[in-house]
Amino acid sequence: MPELLTADRIDEIGALGLKSPDPAAFVAELVGAVDEGRVADPDDTGYALLVAADILEQAGDLADALALATRAIAEQPDDNAYARAVRGGLLLRLGRSDEGLTELTALRPLLETDPEATYVVDELAESGHAETAVEWLTGALDVLLDRSRDQQHASEDAQDEAAAMIYGLARQRHDLREELGLPHDEHDNLADRLRDAASHALDALDDGPATLLFWPKPEFDALLVRWPALTESYPSTWDEHRAQTERALVDASGIGGGVGLGIVTGSVKGLSALVGADPIDEDTLDEYADSLDGAGVTAWPPGRNDTCWCGSGAKYKKCCLPRSRS
Ligand SMILES: [Zn+2]
Ligand SMILES: [Zn+2]
Repeated sequence: MPELLTADRIDEIGALGLKSPDPAAFVAELVGAVDEGRVADPDDTGYALLVAADILEQAGDLADALALATRAIAEQPDDNAYARAVRGGLLLRLGRSDEGLTELTALRPLLETDPEATYVVDELAESGHAETAVEWLTGALDVLLDRSRDQQHASEDAQDEAAAMIYGLARQRHDLREELGLPHDEHDNLADRLRDAASHALDALDDGPATLLFWPKPEFDALLVRWPALTESYPSTWDEHRAQTERALVDASGIGGGVGLGIVTGSVKGLSALVGADPIDEDTLDEYADSLDGAGVTAWPPGRNDTCWCGSGAKYKKCCLPRSRS
């Protein structure tokens, strides 16, 4: 029976492929599985092609990367904004500026509605169009700030979501302008104030939903073996565990409550020391998470280009950030 390409394997290649001495073998594995209809979940077809495109791009083969990104768009006609952004970025890097800007400009309105759409701006910034990236962020930020002024009567959830988007855009804009050597303007001061508010809230915190207990892969596997009853509280795979953690943080990231967010990292040894032979339930997990607060909270979110909080070694923007979208 032919071997199926699972989402876990695509993730694994995504994390390893860029460092591999033989990236072509990974590209062949991904594209081969797509060609032969061996992608375990057909919805992952576009994802497999984009990971292959990314490996080719890093290896300097932009033309073949572009062909795969174009194919990824065709494979998922209903949900291809990210693939189109990747294609736009590749066109810009290939010097086909008009086509690249056309592709990305079509996605620009997403900046005002989709909290994850900042990848559109990443593609601009990483292909020598940082000024345009700043301009688009400024435009979206102005729209969202205006909208939030008119939205005093909106539901708390809607206000939190708007606040989280404003924070995300202002922060990305702040960092890009800093790289361009531009002085702080009003929006940059806003980004700094929001960041300070978030970190103060984190300092002041001793429990509540703001720190999440996260288990690195080997610990997660050992945890469910040692306490099988925890399969009630956790998903069956580590991959789903980190995706859930990222999603929970995204959901909680409305700054309406002034909450700073972070992750504490669990270990089977540490949990054993706390509970001894007692059985474990969700309260025990909360108590354990609280006991870890002093040991160090990893602030969330990391920078888009920083190493991901989950420990995969990949950049956040290529790892758990996109994972929260699925
Ligand atoms: Zn600043
Ligand atoms: Zn990650």
